[in-house]
Order: sequence, then C-alpha cells, then structure tokens
Amino acid sequence: MYINSEKITQIVIRTLDKPVSYDLFENFIRKSPFIRQIAFIGKGIFDSPDFTKILDLCRLKSIALIFGEMARNVPIEIVDAMVRAGNIIAVNIHDGDPNINNMIELKNKYQMPVPEVNAIIQTEPRTPQDSLSESSYAFYNLADDKNNIPCWNLLYEPMIEFNGSLLGCWANPDKKHPINAFELGMESALNKSPFINMIKMLKSGKINTKCPCARCPVFASLVWDNSTIDIYTRTQK
Ligand code: SF4
Repeated sequence: MYINSEKITQIVIRTLDKPVSYDLFENFIRKSPFIRQIAFIGKGIFDSPDFTKILDLCRLKSIALIFGEMARNVPIEIVDAMVRAGNIIAVNIHDGDPNINNMIELKNKYQMPVPEVNAIIQTEPRTPQDSLSESSYAFYNLADDKNNIPCWNLLYEPMIEFNGSLLGCWANPDKKHPINAFELGMESALNKSPFINMIKMLKSGKINTKCPCARCPVFASLVWDNSTIDIYTRTQK
C-alpha cells in the first residue's frame, strides 16, 4: 500500500494550548506541495510569536486557512492582519466575543469578502463523538453514524498535533506518536508504517496492538458491529 499525497489537499493542525513552531511549519509546507487548506483547531495558534509569518507563508503558497476557535485576547493588530490576509476563509468565535465586531468592522473597512465569521454558541456536546475524550472508552455507537466516524479523516483531512505528530484522526487515544509530519512532509509521513497500520487495521478488522486503533472505542465498535472500512478506497472516489 502506498499513499499518494497529491489527493490529500486539506489537513487539520491541533493547537489546543500550544502554537506551532514557525521553522517546523515552514519545513512542512516546503515538503508538502499539495496542501491547499489548513484548519487550525484550538486557541494555541494565536500564541505564536510568528503568527503573521504563518499567514504570509500560507498566502504565498495559496493555502486557505480556517481557524476553528479564536482566542478572546487576540490583539487588534492580529485581527487586522487576519482580515487583510485574504486567504482566511472562516473563523469561529465564541458568541459575545468582542473579536466578532472587530473582525466584521475590519472586513467592511477593507471591503473583504472573507473571512466568514461564525459565532460558536454551542456549549454542550451534541453527538457521541463530541463527548469522547482521550480517556473515554465508552462504546461508540456506529448505528446512526457509520459515514461520519473520525477514521474517515485519516486521508480526507488528516490531523496533526501542534508539534508535528501525525495523529491521523482526532480520536487517536495514544499520547506518543512515532511520526513527525512537520519534519518528514506529508507524503513521507503518511507512508510510514505506523500510519499505514492504522489503515490496514480498519480495512482488515485484525488487531495490531502497536496501533492506536487497538485502544480506540471506534474500532471496538467496528468489531462489535462486525464491520471494516476501507479508508484508502473511499479517498480515491
Ligand atoms: S479506530 Fe483508529 S482511525 Fe478510527 S477513530 Fe479510532 S484511532 Fe482514529
């Protein structure tokens, strides 16, 4: 099995409470020429001293950005840079946050169609996935949700930790991740055996105890349901 990264154009970078290192990020972008969209999840990205350099680099490479959750204390200069960047397509901000008005006023001032500003008003988990945590081993009910399980993100929109660790999906329960995508670049990282093993496990249903899927409630549910999923085939459609 070989994964051609040409078709994997969007990724998620999880920056829950720590930013990415600019040098590592720049190395990753240089080695990953097919990336067209990055979603930053979490507020840590706004703590990066090189935040505007990250914006500039992505604009230069025609990479669209999404910010999954904006921090409350983002200085107005940063908000201004975000609006003027022009390659940020959406920002999610908690309802009532002063950043909402600032961003909308700046959009009007510069007559920018983007970013789309979305208010986050949901506080309680809505689905079983929303309530899963790293330590949750609750049965994951696939009955209603088979086409929306986190495994699909492995190749559709792989998730990377702030330090470059390739999580693959957001439900990965392991804390130690052997693949650093920021160092290797996307194609090389996706073709390392620990990542390929995740795909093989989902496809075959056979447990590999070295694989994080072996400790994941989603996989337990696949086994319970007597199911397997072919992540690789789905991304080829
Ligand atoms: S089974 Fe594997 S790919 Fe699927 S959600 Fe769990 S850790 Fe992620």
